Amino acid sequence: MLTKKLPTLQSFQVLVSRYASQLAHQQYDVIVVGGGHAGTEAAAAAARVGAETLLVSQKIQTIGALSCNPSLGGIGKGQLVKEIDALDGLCGRAGDWAGIHFSILNRRKGPAVWGPRAQLDRQYYREFIQSELLSTPRLTVLEGSVEELLVTEPKPDEPGQHRVTGIRLANGSQLVSASSVVLTTGTFLAGSLFVGQTTVPGGRVGDAPSSAGLSHTLKERLRLRMGRLRTGTPPRIVKESVDLSLAVLHPPDTNPTPFSFLNKQTRCKPEEQLPCHLTYTTPGVEKVVKESLHLNCHIHQDTKGPRYCPSIESRVLRFPGRQHQVWLEPEGLTSELLYPQGLSMTMPPEMQLSLIREIPPLQRAEIHTPGYGVQYDFVCPTQLSPALQVKSTQGLFLAGQINGTTGYEEAAAQGLWAGVNAARRALSMPPVTLSRTESYIGVLIDDLVCRGVTEPYRMFTSRAEFRTALRPDNADLRLSLKGFEEVGCVSSERYQEALRVKNSLADALAALQDLTLSRHNWRKMLPDVHISDAKNSVLNGMAVLQYNQVSYEMLASCFPEVLCPFVEFSQRLKIEAVYKPHCDLQKKEMDRIQKEESMFLPQDIDYFSLPVSLSQEVREILDRFRPSTLGAATRLQGMTPAAIVHLLKYVKQTK
Ligand code: FAD
Repeated sequence: MLTKKLPTLQSFQVLVSRYASQLAHQQYDVIVVGGGHAGTEAAAAAARVGAETLLVSQKIQTIGALSCNPSLGGIGKGQLVKEIDALDGLCGRAGDWAGIHFSILNRRKGPAVWGPRAQLDRQYYREFIQSELLSTPRLTVLEGSVEELLVTEPKPDEPGQHRVTGIRLANGSQLVSASSVVLTTGTFLAGSLFVGQTTVPGGRVGDAPSSAGLSHTLKERLRLRMGRLRTGTPPRIVKESVDLSLAVLHPPDTNPTPFSFLNKQTRCKPEEQLPCHLTYTTPGVEKVVKESLHLNCHIHQDTKGPRYCPSIESRVLRFPGRQHQVWLEPEGLTSELLYPQGLSMTMPPEMQLSLIREIPPLQRAEIHTPGYGVQYDFVCPTQLSPALQVKSTQGLFLAGQINGTTGYEEAAAQGLWAGVNAARRALSMPPVTLSRTESYIGVLIDDLVCRGVTEPYRMFTSRAEFRTALRPDNADLRLSLKGFEEVGCVSSERYQEALRVKNSLADALAALQDLTLSRHNWRKMLPDVHISDAKNSVLNGMAVLQYNQVSYEMLASCFPEVLCPFVEFSQRLKIEAVYKPHCDLQKKEMDRIQKEESMFLPQDIDYFSLPVSLSQEVREILDRFRPSTLGAATRLQGMTPAAIVHLLKYVKQTK
């Protein structure tokens, strides 16, 4: 079983305050502001790369807190968790530690789009993250609120280029300097909370918003384009007041699949996992929503909310007369609360109670904490480079919800990458990028910096053109090797394991390719499999493994000497075989994109005087977004194929 000695919150607090007294006027390589999903990954990644790192967050006890749903992963999001883990990030291992209900979503589809997901114990998750941060060398944690960013004005030889030099903390105006600062303030930037007709400043229930000074620096001094978004959370319900026998039982997978490539099992034993339950709204729910509309100011705001995680008010108003799903999910192994996924709402608390009681299992339910909405400022992410650095401010990196995304996994992925690049900058190493041909993290960052956001951005498998190659099962091979050899954020232990896997898979694939038999002989060997007739009379083991009915174990029992040594990889080999034809076909397209990604566009080009044939509109787009590569330019909205050809010619000439 997975075991680990976790510190108590008290010991974490003691350590943090001991550091705090030594901080004044210290110089760090990297300062990370905010201890949410982006901030914790950023701080840990920066320290792994080798930077002396300071993580400052408003409250120690909320470091690693799950603000909303106690779950991790899912379709598209599970891929991000696997990739974060492959880069030695925290959330995959934290998920294995805190998971209390594991399931692979989308199993009816191919393994490329399976979504590993787990319901989590909130407290276990937070404790694991805090414990990891404590044991990370070169990382100091400080409780405090950052009041202001310290930035220098642009120099005459670098017009428009500010440079960050550190932070100023609230209470005592303590200054801390650093070469790089990563801002990960989530929903806290100019945050306002909404319930019924009441609005109060806040970043999350029980937490104050980020100080006005921070927003002021971003908007007024750095002149960054900002926008406003919103999200919401459901009421938490007292478990013993719910009649779960009236809902449909959804058990977890019998054998929990860990997120982390380093874990063979999860902390929670299979039989200790808790079930979820499914129920539905009734016409009564719609009635309460409509009757309370005039008392619900959040729903009337123009601000964009998360389209794929809408409030019950939005669902009912958009699709009247329908039944909507409500998942009743445990909040922890011993928690007294249930999380009703699908019932995010912002009406007055007494109406929230009336609404939930219209749902049969919740007829006598009691609310522990009412649902609420939050609105916050975000920075338009097209102002960032693919390293997540603000293009106009050297050393300032942004990650997470502040970039207009929603979700823990999206935040954690950006955090890790911003932390890596912040550390590399501080240590005078060149920035690193991830292409959309090699990872979902690359897709996420590319979408943000090239296309921007008009509503809270979340990951889907459909966003990744090369999803059959970017599978959850092979994230280690795609990223752990690069993470160690080129990026510097992966431990040698993980690297050695990824190498072992890579070499074993290569040997196994070679062994399968070498097993060349006539179709007739394969039929004799596998009588229950319908091996088709075709022109080529011989087939190798790889081609046979592509048949639905054939498992690696079946082939290993036919050729035990050659194939049994690799049986630990049987599922991965089956998946490799199934996707090989498709991945081979996509290779050409991936190569083309990789080539374009390697053609850098200088950041100081004057697009208006470029001596090539480009329309004024295209010049304006290029000037506004300043794509860093030709590949990024191709994905800007409004770019024409002709403009790309001219730009390509120009890049080739100037090389
Ligand atoms: P956060 O997790 O918000 O962390 C920000 C951190 O920064 C906090 O620790 C805060 O204390 C700290 N901080 C802020 N300002 C300062 C400062 N000046 N100085 C020091 N520290 C500071 N996601 C979904 O996918 N689906 C949902 O339905 C959903 N609903 C949500 C509902 C609510 C009410 C909230 C609050 C969030 C919701 N989310 C939802 C979003 C999810 O919580 C975030 O996407 C995710 O937590 C973002 O991670 P982050 O690291 O960017 O920010």
